[in-house]
Amino acid sequence: MTAEESNRRIPAERYTARLAACRDAIAERGFSALLVGVGPDLRYLTGFVGEPMERITLLVVPREGPVSFVVPQLEAVKAGSTPLASAGAATVVPFGETDDAAGIVAGLLAAAGTSGAAGTDAAAGTGARGAIGVSDRLWAMHVLQMQAVLPGRRFEPASTVLRELRQVKDADEARLLLLAARAADRTVNAISAGRLIGRTESEVSREIRQRLIDEGHDLADFAIVGSGPNGASPHHDAGERVIGAGEPVVIDIGGTLAGYLSDTTRTIWVAGDVEHGGSAPTPEFTRVYDLVRRAQAAATATVRPGATAESVDAAARGVIAAAGYGEYFTHRTGHGIGLEVHEDPYIVAGNPTPLGPGMAFSVEPGIYLPGRWGVRLENIVMCGATGPDVLNRSSLDLRVVRG
Ligand code: ZN
Ligand code: ZN
Ligand code: ZN
Repeated sequence: MTAEESNRRIPAERYTARLAACRDAIAERGFSALLVGVGPDLRYLTGFVGEPMERITLLVVPREGPVSFVVPQLEAVKAGSTPLASAGAATVVPFGETDDAAGIVAGLLAAAGTSGAAGTDAAAGTGARGAIGVSDRLWAMHVLQMQAVLPGRRFEPASTVLRELRQVKDADEARLLLLAARAADRTVNAISAGRLIGRTESEVSREIRQRLIDEGHDLADFAIVGSGPNGASPHHDAGERVIGAGEPVVIDIGGTLAGYLSDTTRTIWVAGDVEHGGSAPTPEFTRVYDLVRRAQAAATATVRPGATAESVDAAARGVIAAAGYGEYFTHRTGHGIGLEVHEDPYIVAGNPTPLGPGMAFSVEPGIYLPGRWGVRLENIVMCGATGPDVLNRSSLDLRVVRG
C-alpha cells in the first residue's frame, strides 16, 4: 500500500467503533432494530460501496445479538470483504435469486428477539417491541416488502440515530474531507488562472470535472459555471453561453474522494483586455463582492462549540441585510457535508442544533441580482475545539482574470 492509499483508508476498528456507537443509540432511542439499505448510512457503518437495486441489500442491526448483512448471493464476496464484515462484526447472510429476502430479514429479527407477535403493541416504544428504523435511502419497494412480512410493527426513520452519529466527523472523516477540499482548491486555482473568455460554460465545466479527477477525486460530482446573468441562478447548469469580457463567473464545484465530498465556490471577474474593450470590476460588483466576503467571514467567525446552526446563518444574513441586499440572498447559508454533499447540520434559520467539534458544513452566502449577475463564496468549515477550522484554503480575494 502506498502512503497515498493508506492516507485514504479508513481502518476496520473505525467501523466497529461506529457500529458500537450506533447500537448504543438504538438502545437509547428505544428502537428494536435498524434496517440500513445501500447508501451513505450503509457505507458509514460497513464500508460497503454500491448502488441500490431491486434486490435487497440490508444491514440488520438488532438492539442486541448478532448483526447480519443480508445480501444477494452475487454480492456475498464483496460484502464479506467490507471492513466491518472482515473484522467479524457482521455476518454475511447471502440469499439466492428465488429466496424470500424479506422473510429472511424477518427471521433474523425474530431470532434476535425483536419481532414479537402483532397485536401486542401495548409495550411498543421500548426494547424488543420498539420501532424498526429504516434508513432514509431504503427504497419504498423494500420498505413495503418489510412491512408486509412484519405486520403490526412500527417503522420510523433510522436517521434520528444515524444523523447524530454522521454529523460529527471522526478523525478519518476529517482527514478525507480535508484531502477533498484541497483537491478542489487546486482545481479552483487552476481555473481562475484562465483562459475563460470565448469558451462556453460547458467547456469550462468539462475542464473542471477533468481537473477534479486529476487532483485526486474519484468522481467529479458537479461543476456549476454561471457566467453573467446565469450567475444569478444559484444552481445554474453549465450551458452553451460563451463567457465574455467584463462580467463575473460563479464557479461552484465538488467531487468525491474516498467517499467524502468537496464543495467550494469562487466568483471570478473576467476583465479581458481592459485597454481594448475589456472592463475592470465595476464599483457595484466590487461592493457586492466585498459584502458577500464579509458575510462569509462573519458567519465563519461565529462557528464554535455551542453556537447554534441558525446563529451562523443569522451572522451571514445580518451583514447582507444591513447593506440592503437581504432579499437577494435567497438560500440558506450552508449544509452539512460528508458522505453526502447535503446532510445535517443544515445552516438555516430555525435549526437550533448546537454545533460541536467535528461537525463539517459549508458557509456559502450569496447575492443574486436577477438578469444581471451573482456572487457566491463557499468554504467548508469544520467546528473545532474552540473555533472554526476552514478546510478550503484558496484565496477569497477577488480574482480578476484577463483572458
Ligand atoms: Zn448548492
Ligand atoms: Zn457548492
Ligand atoms: Zn454547498
